[in-house]
Amino acid sequence: MNNWGIPDWLEKEVKERDKTCVYCGIKMVDKMPTHGPRKTVATWEHIINDETIVNRENIALCCCSCNASKGAKTLSEWLQSKYCSDRDINFETVAPIIKHAINDGQ
Ligand SMILES: [Zn+2]
Repeated sequence: MNNWGIPDWLEKEVKERDKTCVYCGIKMVDKMPTHGPRKTVATWEHIINDETIVNRENIALCCCSCNASKGAKTLSEWLQSKYCSDRDINFETVAPIIKHAINDGQ
């Protein structure tokens, strides 16, 4: 288990899958850089904002910048935000796992 209550096997699986931000597609770095921008650091994301849902459909890695912007918004709310429109983040551009969640009504 890591600090976010994610079991090791799932952490490993998601790290293999999400090499780039599931939202904006930027290549992420694993560790907080001592110098330089922190916005590309990989952060754990609950796609549905419910910390009790810990499975491969709800746990993803996204960059620090998207995570901060999304906050407690639902996916569909957030995709309509200025942050997303400025960066051309939309249903077509997000990772397949996010499309799944949206199709499920998120
Ligand atoms: Zn991002």
